[in-house]
Amino acid sequence: MTKHLKLYIDGEWIDSANPKLQDVINPATQEVIAKASQATKEETEKAIRTAKRTFENGVWSEQTPSARAEILLQIADKIEVNLNELAELEVMNNGKTKREAEADVEDAVNTFRYYAGLLHNQMDEAFEADKDLQTVIVKEPMGVAGLIVPWNFPILMSVWKIAPALAAGNSIILKPAEITPVTAVRLYELMEQTDLPKGAAQLLLGTGSVAGQTLAEGNDVNIISFTGSTKVGQQIMQAASENLKKVSLELGGKSPNIILGDADIDLAVDYALFGIFMGAGQVCTSGSRLLVQESIYEEFIEKYIEKAKAIRVGPGNDTKSEMGAIVSEKHMESILNYIQIGVEEGAHLALGGNRMESDGLEKGFFIEPTVFTDVTSDMRIVREEIFGPVIVIQKFKDEKDAIQIANDTDYGLAGAVFTKDQAKAIRIIKKIRAGITWVNTYHLSSVQSPWGGYKTSGIGRSLGKYGLDEYQETKQINISMNPERLDWFEGNK
Ligand code: NAD
Repeated sequence: MTKHLKLYIDGEWIDSANPKLQDVINPATQEVIAKASQATKEETEKAIRTAKRTFENGVWSEQTPSARAEILLQIADKIEVNLNELAELEVMNNGKTKREAEADVEDAVNTFRYYAGLLHNQMDEAFEADKDLQTVIVKEPMGVAGLIVPWNFPILMSVWKIAPALAAGNSIILKPAEITPVTAVRLYELMEQTDLPKGAAQLLLGTGSVAGQTLAEGNDVNIISFTGSTKVGQQIMQAASENLKKVSLELGGKSPNIILGDADIDLAVDYALFGIFMGAGQVCTSGSRLLVQESIYEEFIEKYIEKAKAIRVGPGNDTKSEMGAIVSEKHMESILNYIQIGVEEGAHLALGGNRMESDGLEKGFFIEPTVFTDVTSDMRIVREEIFGPVIVIQKFKDEKDAIQIANDTDYGLAGAVFTKDQAKAIRIIKKIRAGITWVNTYHLSSVQSPWGGYKTSGIGRSLGKYGLDEYQETKQINISMNPERLDWFEGNK
């Protein structure tokens, strides 16, 4: 029987009053794997009221940091024990490969453990600010945190928000993407088995235009942490301006990966493939613009295409698959449309470009690894985020040229450089206007490191101690060590 996914508000699984259910599809087969409730505006408001009440009564917000850490560790253990099931659900709902899904779930476990550890290390600052004046700086939870996430890393993006938001003592409301709610529901079932107090964490399934928008507008929501497209990020910022709630935005990218003439070519080819085809290019930090120095351009392209051609595309649950499905038919059509635009713009389609409809893939949404060469900075396929397995390759002359092309974008999420010359690498990376960068590698990062972008790629940072700060208010407490009358106003003397 198809599973019916419900909302979770105030410790109860509830059916939405909205009779319309969203079909949740396996993108590798088009099978309906679940039917999901779609929260109404009233249900979203109820979730907000519950979170506000829970915040104010202190059941979670006033627990000591070490008590909160203990519960984060319980959640981490639950995820770890159910790692395989969660990874299989992620494969089924998102279409990614099992290997990718396992890495995501492991990362989710680490994230909860990391924030539990950080809570033990967070200490208030205290100093003597003036004669007889002791000042203490304390961190406090913000209140109600609305967490809105996309479909490309359903469980991981949820956990990157849930763990620091709960660690800080907030009451939370998570809204996953409408098409990928499955692992979020399972995660909440697991959280329910821990000592997390009732009402500290709600789950809203449903659309961005109703549940998402109501959260973004909500007067009793104190922070909206959003990961998704730049366009929706802008709408959220506007909606949030009503009560000036804090916004934290992790948005899109079109990240440059620069291969210099003196790079180890085989290493660079390897990571340049990983940079775009991991997750079938549906990764915010994908190295989707490849800049190759003219001295090695021909040799690099030849090796790159030969290896890209060999990537085994298939269902995520087949251990032989190296690249999985595109998340939905709508998104697949959008990627195919961009490929068409690239051809019309005059870019050279050197590999792929088609939907894959044979060898058992006909039922799913699969696209060939696609390579465009000889592209120019003015083309739409170079400027816009395609979010699929499509790489655009551009030639550059020298270091200055590479930096200029790399920064010629509205985005600023990530970037990389490949060279054997470390000094040159640092020189270039420091000039790249992006928040997440690499030298001679790609995509590798850790939970300790701040995650976020420059320019239209976002505002604020997730992960690390920066990620905890994002969900905290900072208060100064000034304490007189010698309370004496001031007699500032002497009129009545
Ligand atoms: P999206 O912006 O369409 O949707 C993201 C979420 O926002 C979904 O839950 C959706 O329901 C909700 N939403 C939509 N309209 C809304 C509204 N008006 N108000 C409130 N919520 C609304 O993005 P997507 O297509 O799900 O994900 C792909 C995008 O996410 C890409 O642009 C990608 O680069 C970005 N992304 C960024 C990061 C990062 O860390 N910077 C990570 C992953 C994905």
